[in-house]
Amino acid sequence: MHDIAIIGAGPAGLSAAITARARNKDVLVLSNKPQDSPLAKSHLIDNYPGLPKVSGLALLEQMLAQARSLGAHFEFTRVLSVLPMGEHFTLTTSDANFEARSVILALGTPQARAYPGEQEFLGRGVSYCATCDGMLYRNAHVVVVGENPEAAEEANFLAELGAKVFYLAPKLPPGLEQGIFQQAGRLLAIEGDMMGVTGVRFAEQCEDAGSAEADSDRAEGTLSCQGVFILRSQIAPSALIAGLELAGNFIAADANGCTNIPGVFAAGDCVGKPLQVAKAVGQGQLAAFAAVEHLG
Ligand SMILES: Cc1cc2nc3c(=O)[nH]c(=O)nc-3n(C[C@H](O)[C@H](O)[C@H](O)COP(=O)(O)OP(=O)(O)OC[C@H]3O[C@@H](n4cnc5c(N)ncnc54)[C@H](O)[C@@H]3O)c2cc1C
Repeated sequence: MHDIAIIGAGPAGLSAAITARARNKDVLVLSNKPQDSPLAKSHLIDNYPGLPKVSGLALLEQMLAQARSLGAHFEFTRVLSVLPMGEHFTLTTSDANFEARSVILALGTPQARAYPGEQEFLGRGVSYCATCDGMLYRNAHVVVVGENPEAAEEANFLAELGAKVFYLAPKLPPGLEQGIFQQAGRLLAIEGDMMGVTGVRFAEQCEDAGSAEADSDRAEGTLSCQGVFILRSQIAPSALIAGLELAGNFIAADANGCTNIPGVFAAGDCVGKPLQVAKAVGQGQLAAFAAVEHLG
């Protein structure tokens, strides 16, 4: 049982980890690889006080090293759900559960806009994790919507289990097993009935980068299926934790990072603009203080 679980190893999450460790709390950071943070892709940060002309990756690596040296624990994995259990929370990944008495959400910009039908059929045919739910789809038709680097691997896993896999992504990855049907395109909607998912609608796209057609949709298609695996790095905050209040696309949190769920705090880009490192770092610290106070 950890005192504080932090989801996200960007500047907000790492700042929260550093402050929580300074207060001697047991801290677990669960995150996709740090290179997933947009900060890692920024060649030059020139507005972070005290560190002019630093590369985003260098700044991130220093924050990570500092949090580690202070004793924060790290697991680089995607969190699929956060479940309130009364006095604590259970955080689920594809292959493990973690428990913590409080949670700080430092998820970054919520890019993941739900597809039509995604929320409605979540748990009734829509899944975010092949390892967790793949067995339910032996011999069934499934659509894999590949939006993260691990999606091809998960599609291959589903095919090995005996599912009939249709892989849909704007750009098709190498390494897909023979027998997986591949389509360059994007998902338009998930359809279903009382029993669950019955199919998808998608737009075909031209895969050739640089071609005039590359980004434009071509024909629309439909496909019957029983399962849809949406494999993206992020999970919409409202799907991650049921009942979490949002303000538009962002998580609703007060100035200290408190959300509407006691014991759950939020910081950084996921709570709103400006989307900036210095703001994320400050909010991470405030959320850590609030979590420490909550723990008593
Ligand atoms: C090209 C570019 C240039 C930029 N330049 C500047 C600049 O010059 N100055 C400036 O101040 N800001 C700049 N920014 C913005 C800055 O990078 C962000 O404001 C900052 O990274 C936000 O930090 P954060 O910790 O809130 O979120 P992030 O850095 O986005 O970190 C969130 C982390 O959480 C992970 N995560 C999310 N959901 C889950 C989940 N379910 N399970 C596990 N992990 C999860 C993500 O993968 C990510 O690693 C730039 C951004 C970009 C893209």
